[in-house]
Amino acid sequence: KPSLPFGDPTKPHLLVLGSGWASMSLLNQIDTRHWNVTVVSPRNYFLFTPLLPSCTVGTLELRSIMCPIRFITGHKKRSVKFVEADVVDIDPQSRHITVKSRQESLELIDKATDASLPYDYLVVGVGAQNATFGIPGVGEHANFLKEIWHAKRIREKVMDCFETASFPGLHPNEVDRLLHFIVVGGGPTGIEYAAELRDFVEEDLVKWFPDVAKRVKITLIEAAPNVLASFDSSLQLYTEKHFQRENIVVRTSTAVREVKEREVIVLEKSKRVVEETHAIPYGILVWATGNGPRPLTSKLAQKLPHELQNQKRGLVVDDHLRVKGTDRIFAIGDCAATPYAATAQVATQQGGYLGRLLSKYGKEVENVVGCGKSVRDACEEVDRNSQEKGFAYTHRGSLAYIGTDRAIADLPGNARLAGFATFLFWRSFYLSSLFTLRNKSLVMFDWTKKILFGRDIARE
Ligand code: FAD
Ligand code: NAD
Repeated sequence: KPSLPFGDPTKPHLLVLGSGWASMSLLNQIDTRHWNVTVVSPRNYFLFTPLLPSCTVGTLELRSIMCPIRFITGHKKRSVKFVEADVVDIDPQSRHITVKSRQESLELIDKATDASLPYDYLVVGVGAQNATFGIPGVGEHANFLKEIWHAKRIREKVMDCFETASFPGLHPNEVDRLLHFIVVGGGPTGIEYAAELRDFVEEDLVKWFPDVAKRVKITLIEAAPNVLASFDSSLQLYTEKHFQRENIVVRTSTAVREVKEREVIVLEKSKRVVEETHAIPYGILVWATGNGPRPLTSKLAQKLPHELQNQKRGLVVDDHLRVKGTDRIFAIGDCAATPYAATAQVATQQGGYLGRLLSKYGKEVENVVGCGKSVRDACEEVDRNSQEKGFAYTHRGSLAYIGTDRAIADLPGNARLAGFATFLFWRSFYLSSLFTLRNKSLVMFDWTKKILFGRDIARE
């Protein structure tokens, strides 16, 4: 298997896995002059997830929130290599990773290729995948909302349902089923998706599908007694009431037990003693019940002592974000099991912290190598003698869009805001957080286009 044919032999190799929030923040911070940096990810772009729900209905176009990773790494002082591949294995003993070319590449090169890349330092920033809790039928019939292709698929399916429901002579029950949109999970992803869908129906589809649009029903199913567990109870209540006004049915204390092709089986925890099971027909079901670890994360954890790696959520790390039980492997973002929520805010701060830490390490390694030691010995020495401060998270608040140009904000110091002004704050905050001027311009253009012409309803 080929090894990494890249870089200056007097500098340590840093492999960064993933091109999401955590990895991009690290790359923004790190001084690459002291490193041979390689990023490996199956995605050659960064995805701005907070605006992903807007792409499911065409408020924003997909490419407006994607930023090619080379646009980011291209600005570093020393070049950063990017490999588009899945990392399938990490060997902490030999300090190598195994990467596999993506399925799409196979059409161009006939056979699967894999390669082994060595590292001196490894940063795992592979995020998480959708949790299904082993509930039957979720993988087969539900739609997730985490990646760009998920948003594209949901957008297509919504239009499929409307066009099919408009077919002459369809039984009214079938029309009702097709136009029943179910969202499972009342966390911020589920809430924001339901809100965007409701906007799309009321602002656009009612006009273009006058015969059937009034039959649309949106139902949000949440297992807990309230939605938005991570927000203050006043904002939970505000959101539930707002949804009620906007005809989004919120079924709390109701857990999905099975997803079938056209109906979902739920268990309603009634206020009385008896629990009731119902079958609810649907046209599209979006599954947003939180995160589970990726196979790569679980595989690495299984290779390490169980007493150190015993968290279902991901890799257990120490104060410096080092994966416990390993040498010089760090984990940041959603793949790390920390006391913090799985948010872009946490991932960004962890990436920034590690970028600064590794900049210092790189400089120190360079000094030790200058005294005649090998890169490997220098890395070990620097690691052993490190006295850097640990990672500390600063919570800056949470925001969520709840539809009809309203948003909620749960800010530090018990400041709770909701309504139209909060929506403007939500928009300006995320607009200013987009990485490049190109993305900011595209997003502003899409928002203006929506106001002037409405959302596009053509099927691709
Ligand atoms: P990700 O950003 O998911 O990146 C993981 C990267 O690893 C990706 O590039 C992926 O392709 C890559 N990868 C996957 N498998 C492999 C592999 N085997 N080998 C190599 N690379 C791999 N948080 C907020 O703070 N505010 C919000 O408003 C907000 N809104 C959200 C809206 C939605 C719809 C979603 C889904 C999430 C939202 N979040 C928000 C949460 C936030 O997106 C995550 O916490 C954040 O993406 C975590 O960053 P990460 O770098 O750990 O993972
Ligand atoms: P979540 O973990 O925040 O919420 C999932 C919800 O699904 C929970 O309320 C849970 O009770 C419910 N659930 C679980 N199993 C169920 C079942 N079988 N039937 C019905 N309901 C069930 O998940 P999320 O919304 O996908 O968010 C994932 C992470 O991303 C979180 O850390 C979140 O804070 C973050 N995020 C933040 C924002 C924002 O800040 N605006 C937006 C999206 C995501």
